[in-house]
Formats: sequence, structure tokens, C-alpha cells
Amino acid sequence: MTTVTPVGADGRWVPADWQQWGHLVRDGVGCRWCGRAGSIGPHDGQMHRPAACLACGTVQCNDSSRCAACLYGWLPGWSRGGLVSADSRQCGYTGCAGDAVAGAPRVGRVCAAHLDRPRVNGRPLAEVIADHHRQALAHTGQQWRRMVWRPAARRSAP
Ligand SMILES: [Zn+2]
Ligand SMILES: [Zn+2]
Ligand SMILES: [Zn+2]
Repeated sequence: MTTVTPVGADGRWVPADWQQWGHLVRDGVGCRWCGRAGSIGPHDGQMHRPAACLACGTVQCNDSSRCAACLYGWLPGWSRGGLVSADSRQCGYTGCAGDAVAGAPRVGRVCAAHLDRPRVNGRPLAEVIADHHRQALAHTGQQWRRMVWRPAARRSAP
């Protein structure tokens, strides 16, 4: 591994309408990055923790268990409902012990190596994930799915 930059240090992807939530940020209840108020605690500097989607790698606020860009990928650290156990994070294919990285039809969850095995409307899941990811970040998809990159503010910024 050559990664030296902590996740989110350079910035992160946020919903394109993040500015509409400025009132929540001013009131001290919204995340400084995405504007959403959910899951913000008093000790976290009024922001969600950044996380990279396990399936598509999009760095975003870790305020939901699923990736906002690809819609199938998981963000790290969520219980996935039910008991937090090794089983609940394991690939749904029989005989595979890989760590699940995304939700999938029928088998429930899949590891990175099996992303192209489940089908969504006849297409491999990996292809659908890549499509969603591109549409969200390149703004070729529906309005509500669009995301924009917000670079990290410098400490000296006013
Ligand atoms: Zn946020
Ligand atoms: Zn993703
Ligand atoms: Zn697997």
C-alpha cells in the first residue's frame, strides 16, 4: 500500500445541493461538508467523518451505510442491520470468505472479487456500480444524485 494521505484530507464528494443546507450549518446542527444534520455529535467538530466507499472508492461523508455515488457500495463501520458479526460482513456467495464491499440482489452482499457476478436488470453489478459512480460525479445522471468535490479548506483561510 502506498496510501499516505488520510481519507478525506484533500476534500470529499458531497451532494451537489450542499449549499442549500447552509442554514443548518449556521445553526450549528449541520455538517460543515454536506450540510446534513444527521448523526452529528458535539465532539466531532460539526462534521461527519470522511470515508471511502468500499466498492467504488468515492470519498464522502460517512453519514449513511451505503455510498451516495454508486448506491450499492458500503461505507465502512456500519453494522448492516442485525448482529455485528463476521458473518454479516462476509461475501454472500457460498464458499467465499471475502469481506463484503457492497449490497447485492439475491445474495445480499458481495466481496470485491465477486462484484461482477450478481445481476441487476440483467447487467453485472460491477457495471451498474461503475455507471452510477460516473453519473453522480460527472453529472450525467439525475439531478438528485449529483455530487460535487469540495476541497479541504486551508487552515489559514478566512
Ligand atoms: Zn457531512
Ligand atoms: Zn460507491
Ligand atoms: Zn466473494
